[in-house]
Amino acid sequence: MEKVIEIQHLSKSFGTHEVLKDIDFSVHKGEVVCVIGSSGSGKSTLLRCINLLEKPSGGQIIYNSENILDDRHDIHAYRTKLGMVFQQFNLFNNHDVINNCTVGQVKVLKRRKEEAEKVALKYLKVVGMDQYVNAKARQLSGGQKQRVAIARALSMEPDVMLFDEPTSALDPEMVGEVLKVMKDLAKSGLTMLIVTHEMEFAKEVSDRVVFMDKGVIVEEGPPEQIFNNPAHERTREFLKRTL
Ligand code: ADP
Ligand code: MG
Repeated sequence: MEKVIEIQHLSKSFGTHEVLKDIDFSVHKGEVVCVIGSSGSGKSTLLRCINLLEKPSGGQIIYNSENILDDRHDIHAYRTKLGMVFQQFNLFNNHDVINNCTVGQVKVLKRRKEEAEKVALKYLKVVGMDQYVNAKARQLSGGQKQRVAIARALSMEPDVMLFDEPTSALDPEMVGEVLKVMKDLAKSGLTMLIVTHEMEFAKEVSDRVVFMDKGVIVEEGPPEQIFNNPAHERTREFLKRTL
């Protein structure tokens, strides 16, 4: 299977605190990978290093057979290929929904406004928010905001979508609508890397589950294996606490 992103020996320190230690990991085309682990284990830092919101301290990120941490590499082009969905949505609250979904396309991808609107509408339909194109982001519920944030990321037509706890900031009654959208995306063949605490969701959608603890990948494998028959005591301990 073709690798979309391959990480080799990735490390990240903040001062003397080594938050990621020698991480080797890949995401294949069309694969849905869920990353689980306790708070503070380095999950967000891993995603943030992958999309270069943080500068890795060491290692390689291979994309299209090139190490994008190489000084000569065009990280701008690389970053447009990664869609990111944050816990806190990060929408422009005073802008309407359609504008939130076109601004990146126009600025970064240099699409014409009309084309960007067409693309945005297509993905707003996918997330069930096409009825809200003219609403201001601030008027939406948390679940609706997150669905718009997903449509915004999809509108950039990335090679891989990164999600960092997309439902953690939501009221419980809104978690389901966002997970439903993500399940549909997973079925559609989109390549997804998802940090989540939603274990039932991870079981259902993942091709592979990665368990992180204290800056290392302790184990990874198909969901049945990780959830039903974990190889490591640390994984068992974590699952006992969360399930
Ligand atoms: P997780 O997402 O698994 O909860 P994080 O990646 O957010 O974990 O954090 C891992 C560790 O790195 C934590 O100990 C956190 O305090 C530390 N950390 C994260 N970001 C920073 C930062 N910008 N500066 C200093 N320490 C950080
Ligand atoms: Mg986190």
